[in-house]
Amino acid sequence: MATPIDLRSDTVTRPTPAMKDAMMAAPLGDDVLGDEPTVAALEAKFAAWVGKPAACFVPTGTMANQVAIRAHTEHGDEIICHEDSHIVQYETGAPAALSGCMVRTLRGPKGQFTLADVAAAIRPLGIHGPLSKLVVVENTQNRGGGSVWPLQLCRDIALLAREKGLRAHLDGARLWNASVASGVPMAAFAADFDSVSCCFSKGLGAPVGSALAGSADFIARARRFRKMFGGGMRQSGVLAAAAIYAMDNHTSRLAQDHDNARLLARGIAAIPGLALEPEQAASGPETNIVYFDLAPTLSFDGAGLVARLKARGVLVLATAPRRVRALTHLDVTRAQVEHAVQEIKAAVAA
Ligand SMILES: *Cc1c(COP(=O)(O)O)cnc(C)c1O
Repeated sequence: MATPIDLRSDTVTRPTPAMKDAMMAAPLGDDVLGDEPTVAALEAKFAAWVGKPAACFVPTGTMANQVAIRAHTEHGDEIICHEDSHIVQYETGAPAALSGCMVRTLRGPKGQFTLADVAAAIRPLGIHGPLSKLVVVENTQNRGGGSVWPLQLCRDIALLAREKGLRAHLDGARLWNASVASGVPMAAFAADFDSVSCCFSKGLGAPVGSALAGSADFIARARRFRKMFGGGMRQSGVLAAAAIYAMDNHTSRLAQDHDNARLLARGIAAIPGLALEPEQAASGPETNIVYFDLAPTLSFDGAGLVARLKARGVLVLATAPRRVRALTHLDVTRAQVEHAVQEIKAAVAA
């Protein structure tokens, strides 16, 4: 069978031949011993892109978030974030396990909350409650359909956190997408946050890697926790070279993925029995993530559709009993998206 059209995630992207060449050509050292030139180059480049004084390279976005949480908090502190955020849904309870933190979850459409929500969630100082210590904003918001946070709201939330003595962390795994979709520079989104993390391993096509940026003191502390969590790597310049290549060559093209996501969404919306999830139905996907729901009248559920599509060479993910997710990325062409729509239509009708 031909190679499937893989829409499960943008993490499935593989390094291109040119990226592999860059990886093979990278000068290497030992990053734990402090002399890895390619990692140092990536960290400086990333810090500049997000407008922070310092950065450190980590194996995964989960580690970036968890190192940030550990470095910002003490055991018993409370983190304020959306109930649909990655740190709550997909990081195996790490804020509790690794940092001893409570999580106060907020709700709101598109995976976003308001300034008033944050203000109401910050606890008064006193002997009884946990200390509200950290606010986390996820931009783009994965489970919110890849939604982009308004710049002003990002700024207001981070400034409120600072005013109330909290820290603010930006989980920008797909901040590249937010920036391309909105025209807002990544550094503007990150400006008022104490820390920001981004993933090279999503739509940018690098095989592995994320980075965390913040003040020099914060990053020095983060490096200790990175080592503690097992993220001290040696000739990791091989991976950093892929990340540098991805930043230079694969960011502006994300606009194509967003176009392709809108094409995919339009196609899906026109298939009887399927509907875009309500928030995306209104104005289409903002970036590269499409969520759609199966009508109760269909005889199969999300898992059933996943299986039917797999047999037709299209891979998607069920994220709830009757909800399915499909992402566009570097390794899916417009023609493949058009083909996927035809296969989805046939799979539903079959
Ligand atoms: C993918 C992702 C991460 C990190 O995931 P890893 O698989 O650990 O690299 C963090 N936050 C968001 C919003 C993500 O989508």
